[in-house]
Amino acid sequence: MTTANARAIFGMNEPFKATTIERRDLAANDVLIEIKYCGICHSDIHHVRGEWRKETYPLVPGHEIAGIVAVVGGEVTKHKVGDRVGVGCMVGSCGECDNCRKGLEQYCAKGNTMTYGGVDRYGKQTYGGYSTSIVVPEYFVLKIPEGVELDVAAPLLCAGITTFSPLRHWGAGPGKKVAVVGLGGLGHMAVKLAHAMGAEVTLLSHSPNKKDDALRLGADHYYATGDPETFKQLARSFDLIINTVSAKLDVDAYLSLLVTDGTLVNVGAPAEPLSVNAFSLIGARRSFAGSLIGGIPETQEMLDFCAAHHLGADIEVISADKIDEAYERVLKSDVRYRFVIDISTMAGEGK
Ligand code: NAP
Ligand code: ZN
Repeated sequence: MTTANARAIFGMNEPFKATTIERRDLAANDVLIEIKYCGICHSDIHHVRGEWRKETYPLVPGHEIAGIVAVVGGEVTKHKVGDRVGVGCMVGSCGECDNCRKGLEQYCAKGNTMTYGGVDRYGKQTYGGYSTSIVVPEYFVLKIPEGVELDVAAPLLCAGITTFSPLRHWGAGPGKKVAVVGLGGLGHMAVKLAHAMGAEVTLLSHSPNKKDDALRLGADHYYATGDPETFKQLARSFDLIINTVSAKLDVDAYLSLLVTDGTLVNVGAPAEPLSVNAFSLIGARRSFAGSLIGGIPETQEMLDFCAAHHLGADIEVISADKIDEAYERVLKSDVRYRFVIDISTMAGEGK
């Protein structure tokens, strides 16, 4: 076993504390990664605030991990020591069900093993990337291509794939009008990716202050959702809407913005249930859908797509003692557009 420095919470809504955690000895197919950067996803905040379920403590969040391979198990063939790699939201799945066979491990029939707050194949709780190292089966370790720096790559492992997957699945591309709701971590990647895929992109924001950023990131149009005129003006406009908002919103109002056969895909995961009026769907054969991260093959495809299009996340790098502050800023929608922890600020702490 190796010991890693980490930041954990020991109870709901408590501040982060420095601690140490054990990482298991490598199995033949495991990789030990020295973590360099870890993004802060709003899902980390939902977990820390106990908004989705009862958590097990200590909780070490972090599923936007970028680092360097430090040691490989005896049968590892996909990675070698020194490789630049990433780990996203999953570190295991059954590998045998129909979904796993199709590379859709996120929808594993037996449930995938989450990078943190999950239970691994040894029955141990998983700890995430707010730590100096992690041990992961090689299959769940992604290659970060040359040309994408590790700090701007980290958020691609969740925010990138979570928006890439539905954009691809619902055919974002030339001739398609795509709206993105919310300009945060996921939203800003959705704008960059949809633009790179060739779609006409509109950003819908509850903030009046993000227009310049949205246009710079690749949006063709920007509308403030606080203005009731927006919904009249944009009625029946979009083929696809990606909702990235972390809070409850008026689904019917957004459905009214879809053309006939259009789809509203929810990737935002608010604690409260969302309600839908059936008439919002049946009046124009619209669909209301959801999407969870992406499978391992598609995550690698997304990273390669980002390298080819010179894309990374827009980030603000913070030290490990600023995590609580960063959470407060995310909650105020004051993030431009992903906080990333510089893990070197955790190294060298006393054991
Ligand atoms: P984030 O950085 O906080 O961005 C969310 C954005 O939503 C904000 O920047 C804000 O954009 C908008 N927003 C926030 N509160 C709002 C409110 N009360 N009313 C209207 N708009 C509001 O969060 P994120 O990391 O992108 O994550 C977004 C959501 O996706 C979270 O619920 C997260 O758990 C979920 N998620 C899902 C998956 C998946 O696989 N489906 C994966 C990762 C994350 P504006 O200021 O522009 O309005
Ligand atoms: Zn995430």
